[in-house]
Amino acid sequence: MPIAQSVDSVDLTLLRNLGIAFVVILWLATAFWTFKDARRRIADPWLVALASLLGLVVPFLGPVIYMFFRPPEYLQDVHERDLEIKAMEQRLAELDQRCPVCRARVEPHYLVCPVCTTRLKQACDSCGQPLDALWQVCPHCATPVRLELAPLEDFTRGLPAPPRRREISE
Ligand SMILES: [Zn+2]
Ligand SMILES: [Zn+2]
Repeated sequence: MPIAQSVDSVDLTLLRNLGIAFVVILWLATAFWTFKDARRRIADPWLVALASLLGLVVPFLGPVIYMFFRPPEYLQDVHERDLEIKAMEQRLAELDQRCPVCRARVEPHYLVCPVCTTRLKQACDSCGQPLDALWQVCPHCATPVRLELAPLEDFTRGLPAPPRRREISE
């Protein structure tokens, strides 16, 4: 009988220890999860430390409290959305080109402003396509871009180069 009793008590002790170990592992796992989740959602390292401390010091309840107050989005998602918004704004800005003189809306392929006749772009000698100011060669027909002579005329006339009005209509 005493042998059977001691076996029973050993079993109980083992069971109790296993139970305690399980609870401790679960506690540490939830604390670690809180740290990992906070690091993905919170940029401020002090707030991440605070959330991790809450998850560790208040077993089980800490992570639940953290879940109520954590930011709804991952930092990665916020960053990606910001990039998308920036790209969209840039596309809109490209669409919304304006004349530097009269601020009228102009299309990217306009050579002159239709409102104030300010020269906006140089046309390719060969194919007549509008060329950007920095281009060395026409992307449509591969003709090298000739240096425009207009600023020289302005210089000889002693006039300030931009804005040049009415030069096309005359
Ligand atoms: Zn204009
Ligand atoms: Zn061309």
